[in-house]
Amino acid sequence: MKLSWKTILLWSLPFIVIIFFLWQGFLTPTATDIESNIANSRMTYGRFLEYLDMGWIKRVDMYDNGHTAIVEALGPELGNRVQKIRVELPANAPELITKLRKAQIDIDAHPPKNNSAIWNLIGSLFFPILFIGGLALLFRRSNNTSGGPGQAMSFGKSKALFQMEAKTGVVFDDVAGVDEAKEEFQEVVTFLKEPDSFTAVGAKIPKGVLLVGPPGTGKTLLAKAIAGEANVPFFSISGSEFVEMFVGVGASRVRDLFKKAKENAPCIVFIDEIDAVGRQRGTGIGGGNDEREQTLNQLLTEMDGFEGNTGIIVIAATNRADILDSALLRPGRFDRQVTVDVPDLNGRLSILKVHAKNKKISDDVSITTIARRTPGFSGADLANLLNEAAILTARKHKNAITMSELDTSIDRVVAGMEGTPLVNSKSQRLIAYHEIGHAIVGTLLKDHDPVQKVTLIPRGQAKGLTWFVPNDDQSLISRAQIIARIMGALGGRAAEEIVFGNTEVTTGASNDLQQVTSMARQMVTRFGMSDIGPLSLENENSNPFLGRGMNSNSEYSDEIAIKIDKQVQAIVKKCHQDVLQIIEDNRVVIDHLVDILIEHETIDGHMLNKIISDYTEVPNKNKYVKQLA
Ligand code: ADP
Repeated sequence: MKLSWKTILLWSLPFIVIIFFLWQGFLTPTATDIESNIANSRMTYGRFLEYLDMGWIKRVDMYDNGHTAIVEALGPELGNRVQKIRVELPANAPELITKLRKAQIDIDAHPPKNNSAIWNLIGSLFFPILFIGGLALLFRRSNNTSGGPGQAMSFGKSKALFQMEAKTGVVFDDVAGVDEAKEEFQEVVTFLKEPDSFTAVGAKIPKGVLLVGPPGTGKTLLAKAIAGEANVPFFSISGSEFVEMFVGVGASRVRDLFKKAKENAPCIVFIDEIDAVGRQRGTGIGGGNDEREQTLNQLLTEMDGFEGNTGIIVIAATNRADILDSALLRPGRFDRQVTVDVPDLNGRLSILKVHAKNKKISDDVSITTIARRTPGFSGADLANLLNEAAILTARKHKNAITMSELDTSIDRVVAGMEGTPLVNSKSQRLIAYHEIGHAIVGTLLKDHDPVQKVTLIPRGQAKGLTWFVPNDDQSLISRAQIIARIMGALGGRAAEEIVFGNTEVTTGASNDLQQVTSMARQMVTRFGMSDIGPLSLENENSNPFLGRGMNSNSEYSDEIAIKIDKQVQAIVKKCHQDVLQIIEDNRVVIDHLVDILIEHETIDGHMLNKIISDYTEVPNKNKYVKQLA
């Protein structure tokens, strides 16, 4: 920490106060105090009179308006040495003076040193001065640092809230699985590198590009890669950092950002979470936000303000393009939109390869299997996954990441931290039957994803888990596949029912039932997969300004609503019956599998397949089963 004189002064204030008190209270003693230090011995007034009568008193010094006296006495009782003794005098003893004078004793009176008026004045001024000085210092201090308390008070003063990287060091090769976006941006790089070739033919360089996609899909990385490829500076700020407590602060920050960008053109300005400022204006719900609207207006003005060919390209990122103000999206502003989605299998494969480059990975690791096991993972999730596996490897003192660490890391990312398995008990048996219920249905149904493993090791909220290897293409799912998933999800509860009876079923299936209901309902209302016919009765479009509960966008009659409920019930009921049948028919192998599971805690997909195929015919589902082996 750098110690400035201000910091030192601020920290020393409490000490100054203490010293002041000490000084006033103790270090400025009265005259009596001085004398009393000398005259430690005391005597009574009566004794003093006696001494006086005996002629032993030599000198009397009066203090405190005659209330106290320091007397010099000499007598045999005092060892024939002159001694200074303190005497408290009565308030009203005028005869004493007469007596002293008669005895021709040296008298002197010392008036009280009256400097209290000065001290009173200093005392009453001291605290206000100290307080005001302290406050002034505090404000100066907080205004000099960006962020921190007191930031809100520095109205509109620009702080370096945006970051500038002269060289990002990121190139397109560092971004994987987003080939379309890269192609689109290749053009932007060329704009930045050779603007003349475009301006020569009268082409206007685009001012803004909007990157749309879920978090962690590499939007920031892409923007950095553009700057890196074009070798231009990269300015970045998050939309939420524009908006402050006071109206006008955001707008001034926008001005500052663009001023800096113009000074450094050509460059990339990256605004993350643009929806924080660029949200549709005047939506009404939730009240207006003057500050946000002013900031947005300023942003629009700035984007209009710089000529297309200054070489500043604004890249904004959001995952909610649908809620952005239409003024932002019109030509001349963010007129280009590039979507970056969660990567597909090939995308995951290439992202994993990029991040595996700087890690020591054992030869037995199949990146393809990891990519297969991680549908829905974003680029950031995959990077994190490899990192988790590397940490685990280091913790185990191994020198290369193996499949085991990668598997554990995937389980951890998907299902949470590993818990302690239950000891052999009734609950453990019930959980084992529940999981084997899922696994057997998943294995025997042709359209179900193959089982990767069943385990009794709890993770996160789940007491046991059955993992499946999802199919390649998650975007097109057939009716038979959805039905198989519903049946697979019902497998756990069905096994509990058959083995332990209706009264013993547990709450463990609540999550499964939620999924079952949601899938069945979507079949009816969104996918036209029921007797109601090919109708889209509900859609996913939701109003972002409303809570989740208020979002259902239903446009059907009460009559249809009843039909929907009946259809959902019918689908689930039929699936449930079929699953009960599967469990009953395969009770022998289920019992056998449960024993193995309790003994080993985990059964992998290959082993499971083998055991089941000894009892019954397992459909040759697809290529993954072979790969798992
Ligand atoms: P976003 O801006 O979309 O939220 P980021 O660009 O910040 O995501 O991504 C975070 C991290 O995830 C990156 O630094 C990178 O390590 C990793 N990552 C995300 N997407 C990709 C990708 N397509 N290729 C390589 N790495 C990626």
